[in-house]
Amino acid sequence: MLLPKDRLTPLLEHLQTPSVRLYVPAQAGGKTTRFALYEPHITTAFHLVNTALPPKDLLFPQTQKMYRYGFDEAGVPYIDPIHDADEVIVFGLRPCDMASIECMDAVFLTKGYVDEFYAPRRERLLAVAIGCTAPAKTCFCDSMGGDANEAPQADIQLNETVDGAAWVVRANTAKGTDALASWSAYLLEEAPGETAPAPAPAPAPAPAPAPASATPAPTPAPAPAPASASATPAPTPASAAPHTPEIKQTACTLRVDMTGVKEKLDALYEHELWERIAKKCVTCGTCTYVCPTCHCFDIGQENRMREGERFRSWDSCMFSNYTLMAGHHNPRADKMPRVRQRFLHKLCFFEDRYGRSLCVGCGRCVEQCPVALDITELIDEIGRITPSASPSAPAPASTPAPASAPAPAPTTSAPSAAPLTPPPAKEA
Ligand code: SF4
Ligand code: SF4
Repeated sequence: MLLPKDRLTPLLEHLQTPSVRLYVPAQAGGKTTRFALYEPHITTAFHLVNTALPPKDLLFPQTQKMYRYGFDEAGVPYIDPIHDADEVIVFGLRPCDMASIECMDAVFLTKGYVDEFYAPRRERLLAVAIGCTAPAKTCFCDSMGGDANEAPQADIQLNETVDGAAWVVRANTAKGTDALASWSAYLLEEAPGETAPAPAPAPAPAPAPAPASATPAPTPAPAPAPASASATPAPTPASAAPHTPEIKQTACTLRVDMTGVKEKLDALYEHELWERIAKKCVTCGTCTYVCPTCHCFDIGQENRMREGERFRSWDSCMFSNYTLMAGHHNPRADKMPRVRQRFLHKLCFFEDRYGRSLCVGCGRCVEQCPVALDITELIDEIGRITPSASPSAPAPASTPAPASAPAPAPTTSAPSAAPLTPPPAKEA
């Protein structure tokens, strides 16, 4: 099935109904881009590799009411959970965004714990992903187990055809198959005997970021709305069937080698590199807020006389009060342990618990950290460290080194053992 690009706008208008909230990548005030509620005059941004702000707030809002509580008129106490899940379609997720949702699912839906506020939102989400055609210079998803072309976790996946005129559309889930039934008036059947997607050639190095030819024009010359109220385009005659729907294939140019990184980190808890890295960090928390997989939150409440509301809000392990406990004990009061915690959680601790990295290689933190603290440079440096030559102290009891240390990982960039060299830092 093909979705011609000039049918995107009519399709979006079809999908946006009173009972469904439709989100698309958009310019939302100033230069900030994020997934925003679709409306006719919105400035969509389907050409972006990924949005500046991740889509995680659609499943895990930055502030989310959880309960109302109080006393009723008879003086009986009550606690009412607030479940505000609507039907939501997110159209235009990138493969790394979908991988990040897989991480969030692991946290909020597995290991014997189902988050009652996340689960209904996830259940009512229809995820429509678009394969990338020109990853940004900060993208490295295919080093982190992903693929810039594929989003197997998405309900529906679109891949741009080589001629750039359409997307090949396919459903990856039963929910996606059901949803596609309502898209049929906007889709073209492929030519008889063809399959989609076409066999993928070996991934070629990605072109320079966002070349004009690889930038999917948002909606070139939107098709005029048909006379019918449903805005359904006229059926396409069979003779207009497209040619072979070969799709564009791409790969990230930024690469890291994760071989042995987790195992090395198990033994590098006390390594001097953490102090060095922490000197750069200004603990602004940007990296955690723009990260699609960071999921820490704090719980607060607001009381009004005999009633109140409890809510949760995003928190950040980069903030000093994140670990502040009653009695003013704070195990991570200093900056270095907080910086170390963030990277170890991404590259080590999450894998211990869930079997995969908590970094999906979206590059947002690389792009937006104000002091250019770059997780890919850290991974490169860890790859260059020889455990026996490590100036680190023995691993603490909480993070024991594996019984058999793996061979040193091959270097991924310059073979010279240059340390993680910070550019001039804005000192905290
Ligand atoms: S690593 Fe960068 S973005 Fe993250 S808290 Fe430190 S300075 Fe801010
Ligand atoms: S750690 Fe950085 S690159 Fe990795 S998923 Fe988070 S924002 Fe993206």
